[in-house]
Amino acid sequence: MALDGLGKSLRNVLDRINGSSAIDENLIKDICKELQRALLQADVNVQLVLRLTNTVRDRALNEKPDAGKSSKQHVTRIIYEELVNLLKNGEPVALKPQTILLVGLYGQGKTTTAGKLANFFIKKGFSVGLIGADVYRPAAYDQLKQLGDKVGAEVYGEPGQKDAVKIVKDGLEKLADKKIKIIDSSGRHALEDDLIKEISDIAEAAKPQERILVLDSQVGQQAGPQADAFNKAVGVTGVILTKMDGTAKGGGALSAVATTDARIVFLGVGEHIRDLESFDADRFISRLLG
Ligand code: GDP
Repeated sequence: MALDGLGKSLRNVLDRINGSSAIDENLIKDICKELQRALLQADVNVQLVLRLTNTVRDRALNEKPDAGKSSKQHVTRIIYEELVNLLKNGEPVALKPQTILLVGLYGQGKTTTAGKLANFFIKKGFSVGLIGADVYRPAAYDQLKQLGDKVGAEVYGEPGQKDAVKIVKDGLEKLADKKIKIIDSSGRHALEDDLIKEISDIAEAAKPQERILVLDSQVGQQAGPQADAFNKAVGVTGVILTKMDGTAKGGGALSAVATTDARIVFLGVGEHIRDLESFDADRFISRLLG
């Protein structure tokens, strides 16, 4: 919980509303300032923050509470709704033949998520091929192979090969008959130029329809810069937030979504292959503020 700065500061804003004796214009202004500070600190884009807080202020000042609701409940509700709007429920991943590239830093859960996605599509009746192009972490191929065997996806890899683009090209050829092809790429402990070059080369060679950023929900403030770098490299189309079964509430997701303008498609909620949930903005914000 302590790791999740945004969730904490947003809850502080709500506590302030609850603890106040009356909701007046001054309080609303203060609340909007706090809200701005919380979102800016989490690297949510300035324009988006201003738009959100302006809307919250206008609605809080002008809209009447629903019958039976107090002003406090009313203002809380508005903040909640506008945060949900910020995350907007985008299109789910299409159930059609396609290539999906997973990108993200080391340990975020890319390989595990590749297995979960394979399982998801296989359950929907698609044939799936997995391509192990994580040339940075030697054990990644074996991990992917095990996951593929478990769910019934064919796995292509070239253990020992350092040229990720070659693996991807060979893999796409070898798995040409598979409806869904999922590429697991390398990570690093930090954003490094060679990683960025490698994944943009992969994206250029594979032309994946989905370029999904896999992000650990504990990431917090670093989510914005990370998402920005991956977005510049491959044009991120979706985000999968992992380890949502832990204590982190995933506040960093707001920054990732705001930075990339991509939607969140799934949440990883455990280490098992079936621990993948479709994203729902309402549920997510409730948890963040909960
Ligand atoms: P990669 O380096 O990005 O490929 O990361 P891995 O897929 O190897 O995952 C790193 C660690 O996170 C592994 O121990 C996974 O079991 C774990 N992991 C991945 N996704 C989840 C999740 O949704 N919940 C939990 N609890 N653990 C996860």
